[in-house]
Amino acid sequence: EALNKILDIKGCIRVFCRVRSFLVTGRRVIHEPVLTELEKVVVRSGGSKKEFGFDKVFNQAASQEDVFVEVEPILRSALDGHNVCVLAYGQTGTGKTFTMDGTSDQPGIVPRALEELFRQAALDNSSSVTFSMSMLEVYMGSVRDLLAPKPVFKAYEAATRCNLNIQTDAKGTVEIEGLTEVQIPDFTKARWWYNKGRRVRSTSWTNVNEASSRSHCLMRITIFRHGDALEAKTEVSKLWMVDLGGSERVLKTGATGQTLDEGRAINLSLSALADVIAALRRKRGHVPYRNSKLTQILRDSLGDGSKVLMLVHASPCEEDVGETICSLSFAKRAR
Ligand code: ADP
Ligand code: MG
Repeated sequence: EALNKILDIKGCIRVFCRVRSFLVTGRRVIHEPVLTELEKVVVRSGGSKKEFGFDKVFNQAASQEDVFVEVEPILRSALDGHNVCVLAYGQTGTGKTFTMDGTSDQPGIVPRALEELFRQAALDNSSSVTFSMSMLEVYMGSVRDLLAPKPVFKAYEAATRCNLNIQTDAKGTVEIEGLTEVQIPDFTKARWWYNKGRRVRSTSWTNVNEASSRSHCLMRITIFRHGDALEAKTEVSKLWMVDLGGSERVLKTGATGQTLDEGRAINLSLSALADVIAALRRKRGHVPYRNSKLTQILRDSLGDGSKVLMLVHASPCEEDVGETICSLSFAKRAR
């Protein structure tokens, strides 16, 4: 039993790596510093060679479909009653948002997952499954509701929607006070809310890239399984899909003022996340969830019985090698 538990926890954190394609810049690429294999990434820099192992590696040629095929089993775990976290990690510009949201031509994990959940739920005869959705943004330690109904006053929004409290009840279930949770009866409606959340997010920033480098964007799908029998209890599980803030080290970029503070906030919460995952892997008693809003929010979906998939993104370019090594080392810590 104990051994099973250990194996189970070990098996609950998976780390994949996706290396972005070279973007069309007109420049010829002479030297390719980042080489991918099935379960390994090799980075060559300054005459040395570093190797990083992963549960799976996607190279430049991998399609959105290729990625989703590997992510899909974890979605099924969410339908089976596990709490699940899918997290996109990496330097700004390496393709986190591309992987999670994708484009209309090349949809990413989130739209595919939504579609798949409804498909799977329809196949399940033994119970009826319903879903609800929430979306939030974590910026500089405050939590913003992205699906909140339009407030009458701006001040009202500032007071009530921008800094939601996070509570954990006696059973360890995390509650985000006042967070909007909408019912999603079908894929069309789910996609509508998801697009709304993304729009709300981007309007508060000068541009989308700015938003995604300085804040975390989290989507939560809550899954309710209503048993067949009259007295059957409803089982609840959560699926989190998270586009994390850019992992680049701000101190190295010479950023100042607000940008530096924002970058620091992101770096701190990412390192809190790494600490939590590392503690879970070591199975030490104390897991430092309290060190950031991000880990407080994800607390009941990172620990015992839950499944975590970290998708580490890396640039193929020479000039990013330093950040690439940092990202891949972060992953090593989690794995
Ligand atoms: P991030 O969210 O990590 O900052 P983005 O997802 O915005 O990065 O990606 C940066 C740019 O690269 C976008 O224009 C995106 O469409 C493109 N891109 C990223 N990954 C891929 C990929 N695997 N194939 C094609 N284009 C990609
Ligand atoms: Mg992004």
